[in-house]
Amino acid sequence: MVSRDHIVMLPFMAHGHLIPFLALARQIQQRTGFTITMASTKLNIQYLRSTISADSNSQSIFNIRFAELPFNSADHDLPPNSENTENLSLGNVGKLFHASISLRDPVLHLVNDIIHQEGKPPLCIISDVFFGWATELAKSVNTVNITFTTGGAYGTLAYVSVWLNLPHRSSDSDEFEVPGFPESYCFHRSQLHQYIRDADGKDLWCRFMQTQISQSCGSIGWLCNSVEEIEPLGFDLLRKYLRLPVWSIGPLIPPALLENKSSSGFSFSKQHAGKRPGLATEKCIEWLDLHGPADSVLYISFGSQNTIGLSQMMELAIGLEDSGVSFIWVIRPPIGFDMKSEFRDEWLPEGFEERMKQSKRGLLVRNWAPQLDILSHKSIGAFLSHCGWNSVLESLSQGVPILGWPMAAEQAYNSKMLMEEMGVSVELTRGSQGIIVGKEVKRVIELVLEKEGKGKDMRNKAVEVKKQLRAAVSHETENKGSSVKAMDDFVRTILSTSQEQAA
Ligand code: UDP
Repeated sequence: MVSRDHIVMLPFMAHGHLIPFLALARQIQQRTGFTITMASTKLNIQYLRSTISADSNSQSIFNIRFAELPFNSADHDLPPNSENTENLSLGNVGKLFHASISLRDPVLHLVNDIIHQEGKPPLCIISDVFFGWATELAKSVNTVNITFTTGGAYGTLAYVSVWLNLPHRSSDSDEFEVPGFPESYCFHRSQLHQYIRDADGKDLWCRFMQTQISQSCGSIGWLCNSVEEIEPLGFDLLRKYLRLPVWSIGPLIPPALLENKSSSGFSFSKQHAGKRPGLATEKCIEWLDLHGPADSVLYISFGSQNTIGLSQMMELAIGLEDSGVSFIWVIRPPIGFDMKSEFRDEWLPEGFEERMKQSKRGLLVRNWAPQLDILSHKSIGAFLSHCGWNSVLESLSQGVPILGWPMAAEQAYNSKMLMEEMGVSVELTRGSQGIIVGKEVKRVIELVLEKEGKGKDMRNKAVEVKKQLRAAVSHETENKGSSVKAMDDFVRTILSTSQEQAA
Protein backbone atom coordinates (compact mmCIF):
# COMPACT_ATOMS: atom_id res chain seq x y z
CA MET A 1 0.00 0.00 0.00
CA VAL A 2 1.31 3.48 -0.84
CA SER A 3 1.55 5.51 2.33
CA ARG A 4 2.30 8.91 0.81
CA ASP A 5 -0.43 11.52 0.75
CA HIS A 6 -2.10 12.17 -2.54
CA ILE A 7 -3.70 15.22 -4.14
CA VAL A 8 -5.88 15.15 -7.25
CA MET A 9 -5.91 18.27 -9.40
CA LEU A 10 -8.50 19.25 -12.00
CA PRO A 11 -7.44 22.15 -14.23
CA PHE A 12 -9.82 23.75 -16.68
CA MET A 13 -8.90 22.99 -20.31
CA ALA A 14 -7.32 26.25 -21.42
CA HIS A 15 -3.69 27.31 -21.63
CA GLY A 16 -4.04 30.10 -19.07
CA HIS A 17 -5.41 27.58 -16.53
CA LEU A 18 -3.26 24.52 -17.30
CA ILE A 19 0.06 26.28 -16.80
CA PRO A 20 -0.63 27.74 -13.32
CA PHE A 21 -2.12 24.38 -12.26
CA LEU A 22 1.10 22.71 -13.33
CA ALA A 23 3.14 25.30 -11.43
CA LEU A 24 0.96 24.76 -8.36
CA ALA A 25 1.44 20.98 -8.59
CA ARG A 26 5.17 21.48 -8.82
CA GLN A 27 5.23 23.80 -5.85
CA ILE A 28 3.16 21.53 -3.61
CA GLN A 29 5.24 18.55 -4.60
CA GLN A 30 8.55 20.28 -3.96
CA ARG A 31 7.34 21.42 -0.55
CA THR A 32 5.68 18.21 0.60
CA GLY A 33 6.63 15.24 -1.57
CA PHE A 34 2.93 14.39 -1.91
CA THR A 35 1.87 12.32 -4.89
CA ILE A 36 0.01 14.50 -7.35
CA THR A 37 -2.35 13.32 -10.04
CA MET A 38 -3.39 15.85 -12.63
CA ALA A 39 -6.51 14.76 -14.48
CA SER A 40 -7.71 16.17 -17.78
CA THR A 41 -8.72 15.24 -21.29
CA LYS A 42 -6.29 13.64 -23.72
CA LEU A 43 -5.17 16.70 -25.68
CA ASN A 44 -4.64 18.71 -22.54
CA ILE A 45 -2.63 15.95 -20.88
CA GLN A 46 -0.48 15.77 -24.01
CA TYR A 47 0.04 19.48 -23.77
CA LEU A 48 1.00 19.32 -20.09
CA ARG A 49 3.44 16.48 -20.75
CA SER A 50 5.08 18.41 -23.59
CA THR A 51 5.36 21.50 -21.39
CA ILE A 52 7.21 19.50 -18.77
CA SER A 53 9.52 17.82 -21.24
CA ALA A 54 10.38 21.20 -22.81
CA ASP A 55 11.46 22.44 -19.40
CA SER A 56 14.79 20.78 -18.71
CA ASN A 57 14.86 22.26 -15.20
CA SER A 58 11.71 20.58 -14.10
CA GLN A 59 12.25 17.13 -15.59
CA SER A 60 14.66 16.02 -12.90
CA ILE A 61 12.54 17.17 -9.99
CA PHE A 62 9.08 16.90 -11.34
CA ASN A 63 7.28 13.66 -10.79
CA ILE A 64 3.64 14.07 -11.50
CA ARG A 65 1.05 11.52 -12.53
CA PHE A 66 -1.26 12.35 -15.39
CA ALA A 67 -4.66 10.76 -15.66
CA GLU A 68 -6.35 10.92 -19.04
CA LEU A 69 -10.05 11.32 -18.63
CA PRO A 70 -12.17 9.67 -21.32
CA PHE A 71 -14.17 12.00 -23.41
CA ASN A 72 -17.07 10.90 -25.51
CA SER A 73 -16.06 12.75 -28.65
CA ALA A 74 -12.71 14.11 -29.75
CA ASP A 75 -14.63 16.98 -31.32
CA HIS A 76 -15.64 18.11 -27.88
CA ASP A 77 -12.13 18.34 -26.56
CA LEU A 78 -10.86 21.85 -26.02
CA PRO A 79 -7.17 21.94 -26.75
CA PRO A 80 -5.14 24.90 -25.56
CA ASN A 81 -5.22 27.72 -28.08
CA SER A 82 -8.31 26.48 -29.81
CA GLU A 83 -10.91 29.11 -29.13
CA ASN A 84 -11.35 32.80 -29.41
CA THR A 85 -13.58 33.32 -26.41
CA GLU A 86 -14.99 36.58 -27.69
CA ASN A 87 -16.18 34.64 -30.70
CA LEU A 88 -17.67 31.58 -29.14
CA SER A 89 -20.92 30.63 -30.73
CA LEU A 90 -23.61 28.99 -28.65
CA GLY A 91 -22.46 25.62 -30.01
CA ASN A 92 -19.01 26.18 -28.58
CA VAL A 93 -20.43 27.39 -25.30
CA GLY A 94 -22.32 24.14 -25.20
CA LYS A 95 -19.04 22.32 -25.72
CA LEU A 96 -17.46 24.06 -22.77
CA PHE A 97 -20.45 23.26 -20.65
CA HIS A 98 -20.48 19.69 -21.83
CA ALA A 99 -16.73 19.31 -21.33
CA SER A 100 -16.88 20.39 -17.73
CA ILE A 101 -19.90 18.34 -16.67
CA SER A 102 -18.95 15.22 -18.58
CA LEU A 103 -15.72 14.87 -16.64
CA ARG A 104 -17.49 14.32 -13.33
CA ASP A 105 -18.05 10.57 -13.60
CA PRO A 106 -14.57 9.77 -14.92
CA VAL A 107 -13.09 11.82 -12.05
CA LEU A 108 -15.18 9.88 -9.55
CA HIS A 109 -13.90 6.68 -11.12
CA LEU A 110 -10.32 7.91 -10.87
CA VAL A 111 -10.67 8.89 -7.21
CA ASN A 112 -12.28 5.55 -6.37
CA ASP A 113 -9.34 3.77 -8.02
CA ILE A 114 -6.94 5.79 -5.85
CA ILE A 115 -8.93 4.88 -2.74
CA HIS A 116 -8.89 1.24 -3.78
CA GLN A 117 -5.12 1.23 -4.34
CA GLU A 118 -4.09 3.33 -1.38
CA GLY A 119 -6.69 2.39 1.17
CA LYS A 120 -7.65 5.99 1.84
CA PRO A 121 -9.05 8.97 -0.04
CA PRO A 122 -6.77 11.65 -1.45
CA LEU A 123 -5.96 14.49 0.94
CA CYS A 124 -7.99 16.82 -1.22
CA ILE A 125 -9.19 17.57 -4.73
CA ILE A 126 -7.99 20.90 -6.05
CA SER A 127 -10.27 22.03 -8.84
CA ASP A 128 -10.78 24.96 -11.13
CA VAL A 129 -13.68 27.29 -10.44
CA PHE A 130 -15.52 25.84 -13.48
CA PHE A 131 -15.62 22.41 -11.82
CA GLY A 132 -17.93 23.29 -8.95
CA TRP A 133 -19.25 19.70 -8.98
CA ALA A 134 -15.92 18.65 -7.41
CA THR A 135 -17.14 19.95 -4.03
CA GLU A 136 -19.97 17.44 -3.76
CA LEU A 137 -17.84 14.71 -5.36
CA ALA A 138 -15.10 15.24 -2.74
CA LYS A 139 -17.64 14.97 0.08
CA SER A 140 -19.03 11.75 -1.37
CA VAL A 141 -15.61 10.08 -1.11
CA ASN A 142 -14.81 11.50 2.31
CA THR A 143 -12.28 14.10 1.26
CA VAL A 144 -12.39 17.86 0.77
CA ASN A 145 -12.39 20.20 -2.18
CA ILE A 146 -10.20 23.26 -2.61
CA THR A 147 -10.95 25.73 -5.41
CA PHE A 148 -7.96 27.16 -7.22
CA THR A 149 -8.53 30.45 -8.98
CA THR A 150 -5.90 31.09 -11.62
CA GLY A 151 -6.88 34.79 -11.54
CA GLY A 152 -6.02 37.51 -9.05
CA ALA A 153 -8.11 38.22 -5.95
CA TYR A 154 -9.77 41.44 -7.21
CA GLY A 155 -10.54 40.05 -10.66
CA THR A 156 -11.83 36.78 -9.21
CA LEU A 157 -14.15 38.57 -6.80
CA ALA A 158 -15.59 40.78 -9.54
CA TYR A 159 -16.01 37.79 -11.88
CA VAL A 160 -17.67 35.60 -9.25
CA SER A 161 -19.92 38.33 -7.92
CA VAL A 162 -21.04 39.61 -11.33
CA TRP A 163 -21.97 36.09 -12.45
CA LEU A 164 -23.79 35.25 -9.23
CA ASN A 165 -25.61 38.58 -8.84
CA LEU A 166 -25.90 39.93 -12.41
CA PRO A 167 -25.86 43.46 -10.90
CA HIS A 168 -25.96 45.24 -14.29
CA ARG A 169 -29.47 43.88 -14.88
CA SER A 170 -30.94 45.95 -12.09
CA SER A 171 -29.09 49.15 -13.06
CA ASP A 172 -30.79 51.89 -15.12
CA SER A 173 -27.52 53.18 -16.46
CA ASP A 174 -24.36 51.68 -17.92
CA GLU A 175 -22.74 51.92 -14.52
CA PHE A 176 -23.44 49.62 -11.60
CA GLU A 177 -22.10 48.50 -8.25
CA VAL A 178 -20.86 44.99 -7.69
CA PRO A 179 -21.77 43.23 -4.43
CA GLY A 180 -18.61 42.61 -2.44
CA PHE A 181 -17.02 45.94 -3.51
CA PRO A 182 -17.41 49.24 -1.65
CA GLU A 183 -20.18 51.47 -3.06
CA SER A 184 -17.68 53.90 -4.52
CA TYR A 185 -16.36 51.20 -6.87
CA CYS A 186 -18.25 51.73 -10.09
CA PHE A 187 -18.21 49.11 -12.81
CA HIS A 188 -19.31 49.71 -16.41
CA ARG A 189 -21.35 47.59 -18.79
CA SER A 190 -18.53 47.71 -21.35
CA GLN A 191 -16.38 45.78 -18.87
CA LEU A 192 -18.67 42.79 -19.15
CA HIS A 193 -18.11 40.01 -21.57
CA GLN A 194 -20.95 39.57 -24.02
CA TYR A 195 -22.16 36.40 -22.22
CA ILE A 196 -22.66 38.20 -18.96
CA ARG A 197 -24.09 41.30 -20.64
CA ASP A 198 -26.71 39.16 -22.35
CA ALA A 199 -27.33 36.78 -19.43
CA ASP A 200 -30.84 36.74 -18.03
CA GLY A 201 -30.30 34.18 -15.29
CA LYS A 202 -32.11 31.48 -17.25
CA ASP A 203 -29.95 30.93 -20.30
CA LEU A 204 -27.70 27.88 -20.57
CA TRP A 205 -24.42 29.70 -20.11
CA CYS A 206 -25.63 31.62 -17.09
CA ARG A 207 -27.08 28.54 -15.42
CA PHE A 208 -23.83 26.70 -15.97
CA MET A 209 -21.67 29.50 -14.60
CA GLN A 210 -23.87 30.21 -11.60
CA THR A 211 -24.07 26.52 -10.68
CA GLN A 212 -20.31 25.92 -10.95
CA ILE A 213 -19.36 29.10 -9.12
CA SER A 214 -21.85 28.72 -6.29
CA GLN A 215 -20.81 25.09 -5.78
CA SER A 216 -17.15 26.20 -5.72
CA CYS A 217 -18.11 28.59 -2.92
CA GLY A 218 -18.88 25.43 -0.91
CA SER A 219 -15.29 24.17 -0.98
CA ILE A 220 -13.26 24.48 2.26
CA GLY A 221 -10.99 27.22 0.94
CA TRP A 222 -9.60 28.87 -2.17
CA LEU A 223 -6.06 29.07 -3.43
CA CYS A 224 -5.33 32.23 -5.41
CA ASN A 225 -2.51 32.82 -7.87
CA SER A 226 -1.60 36.22 -6.49
CA VAL A 227 0.36 37.92 -3.75
CA GLU A 228 -1.13 39.46 -0.63
CA GLU A 229 0.96 42.66 -0.84
CA ILE A 230 0.16 43.52 -4.46
CA GLU A 231 -3.61 43.50 -4.01
CA PRO A 232 -4.46 43.85 -0.31
CA LEU A 233 -7.92 45.24 -1.09
CA GLY A 234 -8.75 42.35 -3.42
CA PHE A 235 -7.81 39.74 -0.81
CA ASP A 236 -9.66 41.52 1.97
CA LEU A 237 -12.85 41.77 -0.10
CA LEU A 238 -12.62 38.26 -1.54
CA ARG A 239 -12.28 36.70 1.93
CA LYS A 240 -15.22 38.70 3.23
CA TYR A 241 -17.34 37.73 0.24
CA LEU A 242 -16.54 34.01 0.23
CA ARG A 243 -16.27 33.69 4.03
CA LEU A 244 -13.60 31.09 3.45
CA PRO A 245 -9.83 30.93 3.87
CA VAL A 246 -8.13 32.30 0.75
CA TRP A 247 -4.46 31.38 0.45
CA SER A 248 -2.43 33.81 -1.68
CA ILE A 249 0.24 31.47 -3.00
CA GLY A 250 1.39 33.26 -6.18
CA PRO A 251 2.97 34.26 -8.38
CA LEU A 252 2.85 30.85 -10.05
CA ILE A 253 5.14 31.78 -12.90
CA PRO A 254 8.44 30.16 -13.90
CA PRO A 255 10.97 30.74 -11.09
CA ALA A 256 13.51 32.13 -13.58
CA LEU A 257 11.24 35.15 -14.01
CA LEU A 258 11.70 35.97 -10.36
CA GLU A 259 15.49 36.11 -10.60
CA ASN A 260 17.55 39.05 -11.75
CA LYS A 261 18.01 39.85 -15.40
CA SER A 262 21.39 38.91 -16.83
CA SER A 263 23.51 41.83 -18.04
CA SER A 264 22.82 41.00 -21.69
CA GLY A 265 19.13 41.25 -20.97
CA PHE A 266 18.64 37.75 -22.38
CA SER A 267 17.14 36.34 -19.30
CA PHE A 268 14.64 33.58 -19.35
CA SER A 269 16.05 30.87 -21.64
CA LYS A 270 19.58 31.44 -20.38
CA GLN A 271 18.53 30.89 -16.81
CA HIS A 272 16.90 27.62 -17.77
CA ALA A 273 20.18 25.74 -17.44
CA GLY A 274 20.82 23.66 -20.52
CA LYS A 275 17.79 24.90 -22.37
CA ARG A 276 18.56 25.92 -25.89
CA PRO A 277 16.23 28.61 -27.18
CA GLY A 278 14.13 27.68 -30.20
CA LEU A 279 14.36 29.49 -33.52
CA ALA A 280 11.47 31.85 -32.79
CA THR A 281 13.05 32.76 -29.47
CA GLU A 282 16.44 33.39 -31.03
CA LYS A 283 14.86 35.61 -33.68
CA CYS A 284 13.02 37.72 -31.11
CA ILE A 285 15.99 38.00 -28.79
CA GLU A 286 18.39 38.93 -31.58
CA TRP A 287 15.93 41.56 -32.72
CA LEU A 288 15.59 42.93 -29.18
CA ASP A 289 19.37 42.94 -28.70
CA LEU A 290 19.57 45.23 -31.74
CA HIS A 291 17.07 47.57 -30.17
CA GLY A 292 19.51 48.41 -27.44
CA PRO A 293 17.95 51.14 -25.30
CA ALA A 294 16.54 49.72 -22.10
CA ASP A 295 12.79 50.04 -21.50
CA SER A 296 12.08 51.29 -25.02
CA VAL A 297 10.26 48.51 -26.92
CA LEU A 298 6.52 47.85 -26.79
CA TYR A 299 5.44 44.19 -26.69
CA ILE A 300 1.90 43.47 -27.95
CA SER A 301 0.01 40.25 -27.32
CA PHE A 302 -3.56 39.22 -26.54
CA GLY A 303 -2.82 35.96 -24.74
CA SER A 304 -3.42 32.42 -25.86
CA GLN A 305 -7.01 32.71 -27.09
CA ASN A 306 -7.82 36.18 -28.35
CA THR A 307 -7.42 38.38 -31.34
CA ILE A 308 -8.78 41.82 -32.24
CA GLY A 309 -11.16 43.18 -34.88
CA LEU A 310 -10.02 44.07 -38.38
CA SER A 311 -10.54 47.83 -38.06
CA GLN A 312 -8.86 47.76 -34.65
CA MET A 313 -5.88 45.99 -36.22
CA MET A 314 -5.62 48.68 -38.90
CA GLU A 315 -5.80 51.54 -36.38
CA LEU A 316 -3.32 49.86 -34.04
CA ALA A 317 -0.86 49.56 -36.95
CA ILE A 318 -1.41 53.22 -37.91
CA GLY A 319 -0.86 54.39 -34.34
CA LEU A 320 2.24 52.24 -33.96
CA GLU A 321 3.76 53.56 -37.16
CA ASP A 322 3.02 57.19 -36.25
CA SER A 323 4.42 56.79 -32.75
CA GLY A 324 7.90 55.92 -33.96
CA VAL A 325 8.18 53.41 -31.12
CA SER A 326 9.83 50.00 -31.68
CA PHE A 327 7.58 47.02 -31.10
CA ILE A 328 7.11 43.25 -31.22
CA TRP A 329 3.53 42.36 -32.12
CA VAL A 330 2.14 38.82 -31.84
CA ILE A 331 -0.30 38.95 -34.70
CA ARG A 332 -3.21 36.67 -35.57
CA PRO A 333 -6.00 36.78 -38.14
CA PRO A 334 -8.65 39.26 -37.00
CA ILE A 335 -11.96 38.29 -35.43
CA GLY A 336 -14.25 36.56 -37.89
CA PHE A 337 -11.43 34.64 -39.59
CA ASP A 338 -10.09 31.22 -38.73
CA MET A 339 -7.37 31.75 -36.14
CA LYS A 340 -5.27 29.07 -37.81
CA SER A 341 -5.50 30.55 -41.30
CA GLU A 342 -2.62 32.22 -43.10
CA PHE A 343 -2.19 35.89 -42.20
CA ARG A 344 -3.15 38.18 -45.11
CA ASP A 345 -1.31 41.41 -45.97
CA GLU A 346 -4.66 43.13 -46.60
CA TRP A 347 -5.45 43.03 -42.86
CA LEU A 348 -2.78 45.67 -42.26
CA PRO A 349 -2.18 49.08 -43.89
CA GLU A 350 -0.57 48.66 -47.30
CA GLY A 351 3.16 47.98 -47.07
CA PHE A 352 3.12 48.18 -43.25
CA GLU A 353 5.07 45.01 -42.50
CA GLU A 354 7.69 45.72 -45.16
CA ARG A 355 8.20 49.30 -43.91
CA MET A 356 8.55 48.06 -40.34
CA LYS A 357 11.05 45.44 -41.49
CA GLN A 358 13.12 47.89 -43.57
CA SER A 359 13.26 50.48 -40.82
CA LYS A 360 13.87 47.74 -38.20
CA ARG A 361 11.10 49.40 -36.20
CA GLY A 362 8.75 46.50 -35.68
CA LEU A 363 8.76 42.74 -35.63
CA LEU A 364 5.52 40.91 -36.41
CA VAL A 365 5.42 37.42 -34.95
CA ARG A 366 2.71 35.15 -36.31
CA ASN A 367 0.32 33.58 -33.81
CA TRP A 368 2.60 32.69 -30.87
CA ALA A 369 5.72 34.28 -29.40
CA PRO A 370 8.16 33.31 -26.64
CA GLN A 371 6.52 35.75 -24.24
CA LEU A 372 8.70 35.01 -21.22
CA ASP A 373 11.92 35.59 -23.17
CA ILE A 374 10.55 38.79 -24.62
CA LEU A 375 9.23 40.25 -21.38
CA SER A 376 12.44 39.45 -19.53
CA HIS A 377 14.57 41.29 -22.08
CA LYS A 378 15.91 44.62 -20.87
CA SER A 379 14.71 46.47 -23.99
CA ILE A 380 11.03 45.90 -23.22
CA GLY A 381 9.48 49.09 -21.88
CA ALA A 382 5.75 48.33 -21.88
CA PHE A 383 3.28 45.55 -22.65
CA LEU A 384 0.07 46.14 -24.60
CA SER A 385 -1.86 43.27 -23.09
CA HIS A 386 -5.36 41.80 -22.85
CA CYS A 387 -4.71 41.71 -19.07
CA GLY A 388 -4.98 37.92 -18.75
CA TRP A 389 -3.73 37.24 -15.24
CA ASN A 390 -0.70 35.19 -16.29
CA SER A 391 0.41 37.94 -18.64
CA VAL A 392 -0.10 40.51 -15.88
CA LEU A 393 2.08 38.57 -13.42
CA GLU A 394 4.72 37.87 -16.06
CA SER A 395 4.89 41.55 -17.00
CA LEU A 396 4.98 42.87 -13.45
CA SER A 397 7.59 40.27 -12.44
CA GLN A 398 9.85 42.17 -14.85
CA GLY A 399 8.74 45.62 -13.70
CA VAL A 400 7.08 46.24 -17.08
CA PRO A 401 4.03 48.59 -17.05
CA ILE A 402 0.91 47.69 -19.00
CA LEU A 403 -1.32 49.23 -21.64
CA GLY A 404 -4.61 47.47 -21.08
CA TRP A 405 -6.86 46.13 -23.79
CA PRO A 406 -9.04 43.64 -21.91
CA MET A 407 -10.94 41.19 -24.12
CA ALA A 408 -12.84 38.57 -22.10
CA ALA A 409 -13.27 36.66 -18.83
CA GLU A 410 -12.16 38.76 -15.82
CA GLN A 411 -9.64 40.80 -17.84
CA ALA A 412 -11.54 44.11 -17.67
CA TYR A 413 -11.63 43.85 -13.86
CA ASN A 414 -7.90 43.11 -13.84
CA SER A 415 -7.38 46.16 -16.01
CA LYS A 416 -9.44 48.32 -13.61
CA MET A 417 -7.43 47.08 -10.65
CA LEU A 418 -4.09 47.63 -12.43
CA MET A 419 -5.09 51.24 -13.11
CA GLU A 420 -6.95 52.24 -9.98
CA GLU A 421 -5.26 50.18 -7.26
CA MET A 422 -1.75 49.54 -8.53
CA GLY A 423 -1.19 52.49 -10.86
CA VAL A 424 0.82 50.36 -13.29
CA SER A 425 -1.45 50.58 -16.32
CA VAL A 426 -3.55 52.74 -18.61
CA GLU A 427 -6.38 51.26 -20.63
CA LEU A 428 -6.38 51.77 -24.39
CA THR A 429 -9.76 50.23 -25.16
CA ARG A 430 -11.98 47.24 -24.33
CA GLY A 431 -13.04 44.15 -26.25
CA SER A 432 -13.37 43.47 -29.94
CA GLN A 433 -15.99 46.22 -30.38
CA GLY A 434 -13.97 49.00 -28.69
CA ILE A 435 -13.36 51.89 -31.06
CA ILE A 436 -9.77 52.99 -31.38
CA VAL A 437 -8.15 55.50 -33.67
CA GLY A 438 -4.51 55.64 -34.64
CA LYS A 439 -4.02 59.09 -33.02
CA GLU A 440 -5.17 57.83 -29.62
CA VAL A 441 -3.04 54.69 -29.93
CA LYS A 442 -0.02 56.90 -30.59
CA ARG A 443 -0.84 59.16 -27.62
CA VAL A 444 -1.24 56.29 -25.14
CA ILE A 445 1.84 54.41 -26.33
CA GLU A 446 3.93 57.56 -25.97
CA LEU A 447 2.46 58.25 -22.55
CA VAL A 448 3.40 54.83 -21.19
CA LEU A 449 6.87 54.82 -22.69
CA GLU A 450 7.77 58.40 -21.79
CA LYS A 451 10.76 58.71 -19.48
CA GLU A 452 9.10 61.40 -17.36
CA GLY A 453 5.61 62.04 -16.00
CA LYS A 454 2.97 59.33 -15.96
CA GLY A 455 5.11 56.80 -17.84
CA LYS A 456 7.88 57.15 -15.28
CA ASP A 457 5.41 56.83 -12.37
CA MET A 458 3.92 53.67 -13.84
CA ARG A 459 7.35 52.14 -14.39
CA ASN A 460 8.39 52.96 -10.82
CA LYS A 461 5.21 51.38 -9.49
CA ALA A 462 5.69 48.31 -11.67
CA VAL A 463 9.21 47.96 -10.26
CA GLU A 464 7.74 48.14 -6.73
CA VAL A 465 5.33 45.33 -7.59
CA LYS A 466 8.21 43.34 -9.07
CA LYS A 467 9.98 43.59 -5.69
CA GLN A 468 6.82 42.54 -3.82
CA LEU A 469 6.41 39.51 -6.08
CA ARG A 470 9.97 38.42 -5.37
CA ALA A 471 9.74 39.05 -1.64
CA ALA A 472 6.56 36.94 -1.46
CA VAL A 473 8.40 33.81 -2.57
CA SER A 474 11.45 34.26 -0.32
CA HIS A 475 12.32 31.09 1.59
CA GLU A 476 14.82 32.81 3.92
CA THR A 477 13.99 31.67 7.44
CA GLU A 478 14.32 35.17 8.87
CA ASN A 479 12.35 36.71 6.08
CA LYS A 480 9.84 34.19 4.82
CA GLY A 481 7.63 35.58 2.06
CA SER A 482 3.86 35.85 2.42
CA SER A 483 3.16 33.29 -0.32
CA VAL A 484 5.54 30.77 1.25
CA LYS A 485 3.77 31.21 4.60
CA ALA A 486 0.37 30.88 2.92
CA MET A 487 1.46 27.64 1.26
CA ASP A 488 2.66 26.31 4.64
CA ASP A 489 -0.70 27.20 6.14
CA PHE A 490 -2.57 25.56 3.28
CA VAL A 491 -0.60 22.31 3.69
CA ARG A 492 -1.15 22.33 7.47
CA THR A 493 -4.87 22.87 6.94
CA ILE A 494 -5.39 20.00 4.51
CA LEU A 495 -3.29 17.63 6.63
CA SER A 496 -5.23 18.44 9.79
CA THR A 497 -8.59 18.30 7.96
CA SER A 498 -7.70 14.90 6.59
CA GLN A 499 -6.72 13.65 10.08
CA GLU A 500 -10.02 14.92 11.47
CA GLN A 501 -11.93 13.14 8.73
CA ALA A 502 -10.06 9.88 9.30
CA ALA A 503 -10.69 10.01 13.08
N1 UDP B 1 1.67 33.16 -24.22
C1 UDP B 1 2.86 32.95 -24.88
N2 UDP B 1 2.99 33.39 -26.16
C2 UDP B 1 1.99 34.01 -26.82
C3 UDP B 1 0.77 34.24 -26.15
C4 UDP B 1 0.64 33.80 -24.85
O1 UDP B 1 3.81 32.39 -24.30
O2 UDP B 1 2.18 34.38 -27.99
C5 UDP B 1 1.51 32.68 -22.84
C6 UDP B 1 1.76 33.79 -21.83
O3 UDP B 1 3.13 33.84 -21.47
C7 UDP B 1 0.85 33.40 -20.66
C8 UDP B 1 -0.28 32.64 -21.34
O4 UDP B 1 0.18 32.28 -22.63
O5 UDP B 1 1.54 32.55 -19.78
C9 UDP B 1 -1.53 33.46 -21.48
O6 UDP B 1 -2.21 33.46 -20.26
P1 UDP B 1 -3.07 34.70 -19.81
O7 UDP B 1 -3.62 34.38 -18.48
O8 UDP B 1 -2.27 35.93 -19.91
O9 UDP B 1 -4.20 34.82 -20.89
P2 UDP B 1 -5.22 33.75 -21.55
O10 UDP B 1 -4.49 33.07 -22.63
O11 UDP B 1 -5.65 32.82 -20.45
O12 UDP B 1 -6.31 34.62 -22.06
